[in-house]
Amino acid sequence: MGYAEVCVNSPVAQRQTFSYAIPPGLSINVGQAVWVPFGEKLLQGIVLELSDYPAVEETKEIAGIIEPHPVLSPAHVSLAYWISQHYLSPLFDAVALMLTPGFERKALTFISIPSIPDDFDLSSLTQEQRHALELVQRQGRVSLKQLERTLGKKKAQTIVSQLVRRGLAVRSYELEPIRVSPKEEPYLSLAIDAGEAQQEAARLQKKGANKQAALLNFLAQQSKPVPLAEARQTAKCDKATANALVQKSLVTIQPVEVRRDPLSSQDITPSYPLTLTAAQESAFRSISESLIQKVSEHPNVFLLHGVTGSGKTEIYLQALAEAVRLGKRGIVLVPEIALTPQTIERFASRFPGKVAVLHSQLSLGEQFDEWQRIRNGEFDVVIGPRSATFAPQPDLGLIVIDEEHEWTYKQHDKSPRYHTRDVAIKLAELTGAVVVLGSATPDVATFYHAQRGDYHLLRLPERVTPRQSSPLPRVEVVDLREELKAGNRSLFSRSLSQAIARAVTDGEQVILFLNRRGAATFIQCRNCGLVLRCRRCEVALTYHLAEDTLVCHQCNYRIPVPQLCPRCLSRRIKFLGVGTQKLEQEASHTFSQARLLRWDSDATRRKYSHQEILNKFRDHQADILIGTQMITKGLDLPQVTLVGVVSADTGLNLPDFRAGERTFQLLSQVAGRAGRGPLGGQAIFQTYSPEHYAIQAAAKHDYTLFYDKEIDYRRQLHNPPFSQLASLIYTHTNDALCQREAERMKHLIIEERDSKGIADLSVIGPAPAFIHRLRGRFRWQLILRGSEPSAFLSQVPIPQGWTVDIDPVGL
Ligand code: ADP
Ligand code: ZN
Ligand code: ZN
Repeated sequence: MGYAEVCVNSPVAQRQTFSYAIPPGLSINVGQAVWVPFGEKLLQGIVLELSDYPAVEETKEIAGIIEPHPVLSPAHVSLAYWISQHYLSPLFDAVALMLTPGFERKALTFISIPSIPDDFDLSSLTQEQRHALELVQRQGRVSLKQLERTLGKKKAQTIVSQLVRRGLAVRSYELEPIRVSPKEEPYLSLAIDAGEAQQEAARLQKKGANKQAALLNFLAQQSKPVPLAEARQTAKCDKATANALVQKSLVTIQPVEVRRDPLSSQDITPSYPLTLTAAQESAFRSISESLIQKVSEHPNVFLLHGVTGSGKTEIYLQALAEAVRLGKRGIVLVPEIALTPQTIERFASRFPGKVAVLHSQLSLGEQFDEWQRIRNGEFDVVIGPRSATFAPQPDLGLIVIDEEHEWTYKQHDKSPRYHTRDVAIKLAELTGAVVVLGSATPDVATFYHAQRGDYHLLRLPERVTPRQSSPLPRVEVVDLREELKAGNRSLFSRSLSQAIARAVTDGEQVILFLNRRGAATFIQCRNCGLVLRCRRCEVALTYHLAEDTLVCHQCNYRIPVPQLCPRCLSRRIKFLGVGTQKLEQEASHTFSQARLLRWDSDATRRKYSHQEILNKFRDHQADILIGTQMITKGLDLPQVTLVGVVSADTGLNLPDFRAGERTFQLLSQVAGRAGRGPLGGQAIFQTYSPEHYAIQAAAKHDYTLFYDKEIDYRRQLHNPPFSQLASLIYTHTNDALCQREAERMKHLIIEERDSKGIADLSVIGPAPAFIHRLRGRFRWQLILRGSEPSAFLSQVPIPQGWTVDIDPVGL
């Protein structure tokens, strides 16, 4: 008899598997979904390993197979183990990433009576037991639910147990009905040949059955079955008419499986490979060589570093085509599908009919359909957000991560809190695939790896400028302190308002960018620009309204809000925070002739409104587009000649060591939106800290300038990539209790660390988390910094109520 290590869908299971015996006659494979008894219940599980011996003495048997084909490939099984280990997440959470959408279901219990021995004395049963027995016998098999409805829940369960114990009844299990199933539509077709149909139609017409006659004539002209919905539209028939013809055996209605296609609403014209520039050619050649080579020991990871418009996407497309030529397939990851419609279109038009799009806004049914077709090998390319990393794409040869620095690649809000980049690299290592990371502003850690030679660095130093007329936009940095001195208190500096006025007059388009995140939570001197920072951590202090204090969200240092600026003694200390709505108001006032359009999460609640807003702006139905981070994503808007950043500082003042990196990335991207057409362009950054290296470097489009400074700071403060971080957050409705538990945990961790003699692990905090109170619960945070906090924490018992985030982005 063999045994299986099964990952069980129960919160109790955490990071372990359970041993089950494989009953004789059942053929079980690694990756297969099975039913297993677990306590009183029957649960879903995935077989992760097979062995000749069980890991424990007493094992139960696997109750049954859920699906005949394995749902996880061996590589995915290994990946699940890795995710669970590295991110300290329950195994089933890791496995669940890879399951067919809608997979998680409950088991239903059925009762049947095989046969009652002739000599059995029925009078030895109670009346209720006999009643239940008859009920089941009458129908052959009855669900426990149904018995519960008839006899009452408790009673039904007791009686069934009694009958089973006496050997009269047997339990069996089945999945509850599938919630998602392939979508089917009724199709109409003739049950007779077309000639007969026309004769029938004439006869019906004589009898006055005009509708039926019309439908028959319509069907007689069709070469294949017609969807009922289409017949209704075109032939103006209703369901009753169709049914009447079915009754007369002239027509049949049959369900036909249809594909729910997220791309079907778009018209796609095929596109063809461009002739690569010299820089593109050399990058492409490196990637294609590694596609051909046999699997090496290290994962083949490329960092494709090139400014927006330098032709990275064209390289992705041609590298994918090369992979396909070699009989392989690809996965392309984008930060967020809704924000990258143009990118999707480009892939869809280069590989017509061979691109699957996985989209969180698809219905469960649509996701299910795509997943099945991907597994059948119907697509060359799967495109999606981070969840698409786990698509069951066979023969995986290439994984592209576009805009690899984006924070949406980290799943931070639910377990497992994984980072797509690290998971994709692991998956590539397991499958022999090649990874291409693309960005104009690579993550500092990624660039560090590329510098060290862990990844191959490929550079595209210039924009591809087909018309030789759109170099990177010139950036002007405006010092807002000077504006105040000159008496200008509006949101627009003199430079910016002149530029806007000119662009609008000349019929060009303008983007105004305002990053609302973190606004109004920090305070700043309006005279000298000073932002109050923690003395120990260098991060901006956060204003807490309730206590009227400034708090360091890293170490919990606190000071009252000062009356005077500590640097220039001005009284003009202000809470910063202007939202996009306020900006829109002021812009409409200042530029009364311009047509405004606002793009932020308030304006885009509906399904296709991203696309709608974008189309509206592209069709030049507005002159000025006002927006938050969303407008920084891969838009190609050739009529935009001016990008204004209303406050370049908002990001700088987030309490996070990545604030500089984040600011540099955002500003670079925003500036990159200007001058993508023949008119050229300009960007203006308004700031109180014009000397800040992140702002300076972004203004000069100089990644190296930024990186060299940033990596120095990281080294000095021992921040990633020179260490690894883990964030531990405890939540509770009682603030004081929450703080106490955080203190307790800190001591426990320090004790554990010292007893193990680990030198390079520091514990920072506890401090209130960045969002101190969320949905009525307080949150306190500890940060662990060291070479391997994840390995250390896996040995520490972590009580309920704590959330662990390994490699957190955004503290
Ligand atoms: P990125 O992904 O780096 O932003 P893209 O691949 O989108 O750059 O290229 C920018 C623009 O240049 C696109 O309009 C693209 O069609 C065009 N382009 C890219 N490569 C070439 C090439 N080799 N020849 C001509 N045009 C190109
Ligand atoms: Zn000041
Ligand atoms: Zn501090």
